[in-house]
Amino acid sequence: MDAIRTLPAEAGRRCPRKQVLARLRQLVWACVPVLLCLLPLRSHALESVSVQLSWSHQFQFAGYYVALARGHYRAEGFDVELRAGGFGSADPKDAVMLGRAEFGVTNSDLAVSRMAGKPLVALAAVLQESALVWMAQRPPGDDRTGLRAPSGKDLARLARGRVAWRGDLDRQAELVLPLDAVGVNLRQLSQSIPPDPVDQFVAGQIDLMAGYRTNELLDLKRRGHPVSVIELDRSVPGFYSEILFTSQALAERSPQRIERFRRATLRGWQEAFDDIEGTARMIQRLYATQHSVDQLVAEGREMERLSRRDDIELGHMSRSHWERVAAQQVRLGLAPADGLGRIDGLLWGPHSEPVQLLPDPMRVALTGVVAALWLTVFGLWRIAAKGRAEVERLQQAQARQGDDDLRFQFLMDVAPFPVLMFGIRDGQVSYANERAIGALGLVNGTAQWLIHDSLPALRPGGDLMQRLQSSRILRDVELERPGVGAEAAHWSLLTMRAVEYEGKPCAFAAAVDITLRKRAEIELTLLSAQRGRIIEEVEQLQAKLRDASVRDPLTGLFNRRYLDATLRRELHRAHREGRPLSLMVVDADHFKRVNDHYGHAGGDEVLRQIARVLQDSHRSEDVVCRFGGEEFVVVLPGSDLTFAAERAESLRRMVESLAIPTDGGFAHITISIGVTATWPGDDADKLFKRADAAVYEAKRSGRNRVVVFSAAAPDEAPTHLAPAGGAMSDPGLGGGT
Ligand code: GH3
Ligand code: MG
Ligand code: MG
Repeated sequence: MDAIRTLPAEAGRRCPRKQVLARLRQLVWACVPVLLCLLPLRSHALESVSVQLSWSHQFQFAGYYVALARGHYRAEGFDVELRAGGFGSADPKDAVMLGRAEFGVTNSDLAVSRMAGKPLVALAAVLQESALVWMAQRPPGDDRTGLRAPSGKDLARLARGRVAWRGDLDRQAELVLPLDAVGVNLRQLSQSIPPDPVDQFVAGQIDLMAGYRTNELLDLKRRGHPVSVIELDRSVPGFYSEILFTSQALAERSPQRIERFRRATLRGWQEAFDDIEGTARMIQRLYATQHSVDQLVAEGREMERLSRRDDIELGHMSRSHWERVAAQQVRLGLAPADGLGRIDGLLWGPHSEPVQLLPDPMRVALTGVVAALWLTVFGLWRIAAKGRAEVERLQQAQARQGDDDLRFQFLMDVAPFPVLMFGIRDGQVSYANERAIGALGLVNGTAQWLIHDSLPALRPGGDLMQRLQSSRILRDVELERPGVGAEAAHWSLLTMRAVEYEGKPCAFAAAVDITLRKRAEIELTLLSAQRGRIIEEVEQLQAKLRDASVRDPLTGLFNRRYLDATLRRELHRAHREGRPLSLMVVDADHFKRVNDHYGHAGGDEVLRQIARVLQDSHRSEDVVCRFGGEEFVVVLPGSDLTFAAERAESLRRMVESLAIPTDGGFAHITISIGVTATWPGDDADKLFKRADAAVYEAKRSGRNRVVVFSAAAPDEAPTHLAPAGGAMSDPGLGGGT
């Protein structure tokens, strides 16, 4: 399959005019439902409504001006008249109640009216807190900057002085509250309504003045006059302010209309706060020419702060908050206690009914049918297109899969190692590449190959197959294919994975022929065993050699070299352990004569016999040596002099009684023995010299005897040389029998 598909040649030559027309047709069809939906709206005429503001034009009503100027009211179907308020104008609540205006703007006193039985509903509170506050003269000497509230005592004192406020104080809970808190009843205060209270306040003629943060307070700050503001306690709910409201009758008659007006108004407020400077300029130009732009900007900023629109949705009101405000108003005596029951309907909620934009049912039905048809056709077209794309994708995937299968089969066929697949339960080989046929001895051409005919370890149900089924994969399993006839065994290393193939459990296996390696291993094992045997022999020979170097070849006794090493060692040990050690030197008497009489071989035999007597009668710890010629030495570790002398005597007797067969008849021989034992501070040399001296004494005193070298004290010359008994006579030479 081509990786890059080419478009048919005529596609590029399609008439562009036709294409454009087709697109336009699609566009017109797409627009039909929308146009049909919009048709009914055009028949709507603008509805005239008026809003009674609570004061003369200033930034306080900026949202209404902006909604008007930017056409938000018009867009919602309203032709709006904004009526300024102030002295001599209607109270907005009365205006709405009497039906002179559809909407009005007022403060939290809306709740007082509601509780007094006026069915008015609040639509949106532009300010979350009231701007109305008490302002007091800053005490003389307090030149700290910023606004500071006077203490309760000071406030009570101030309230009894010259106080100025405007309007219906009874309804302004935010003014009544702080005085009530310090025990001042507002009704008992003497009210003054000066024409320009700010001027008088600056002149020091007023102690306490009610006014707006957005108005009088800004004015005082602008003039730099020190002033304190009486802040409401934090536990008191903020008094909603600049509330848009309407009558309950209007709200119930047409909730959608109310919602549209509310929406346009809040949009106006949003944009007014977004661009306070621009809005201020517009208000100054069109509504409040007597104010400066700066004044309006400052008012706008303070209002934005009080709207708290950074963390509260503009216009937001909550039922519980209104209830808390109303509770304060009742507590202050501004509303009757039973009025709380009426507060429930004060908050206007968005209507749950669907907004009815198309009053003509026929038109609505027609629009619906057309839209449904259009959507159905469009939907079907999309489904068909998707289906075609899916079919194409599947075909491509199948083609790719076929290609992949072929490639995989080819790779297995030419793989340089055996690859095969066989049934786990029946051992039937379903695939084997050339290498597998050769290496595993599978007979090509046989209808059914069974894996266990070649590799018995892989028989179905066998240990290996069970392991494969449980662990799903087996790695590096060494398997022997037994040799047939003269053919030697073969070895393979298999890695197998359990797979499902054509609905049955199979083993997919790849193998490596390790016959050569295995044979080398076996050979190595054999060689290793052979080598072990050789080493053993060598060791035995070495031992023999070692033994031979310390043995006398004629008698088999230890030689003089061995004696030298041993005597020194035994002596050292005897000293260390504080044990006795005795030494005897044995010399054959007149041996020269034996040689002379029986020949050298006869002499050798006599020497061997003497050696045998010495050897047979020694204890395991004794060391018997041929010192040289016809002279022998016996070391007796642990034996004291008495014991050694007795042993020597016994030896002498045994030798004396020997009749040694030689070529010249039986030979007889006697021996002379010198015995000594260790003294403290002895060395091998001294010990040997003493024994030798004793032998010499035995010879001198007649041979065939034992002489013991003993001394009273160490390092002294022998004081007593005593034969231990035995024949003192010349041993002579026994004749043969
Ligand atoms: P004495 O009683 O004083 O010891 O007299 P002797 O003859 O035994 O002593 P001498 O030292 O004069 O002679 C030792 C002889 O032993 C001399 C030597 O030929 C003989 N001899 C030494 N080694 C061997 C040997 O291996 N075989 C034989 N057949 N004779 C040996
Ligand atoms: Mg000798
Ligand atoms: Mg001798």
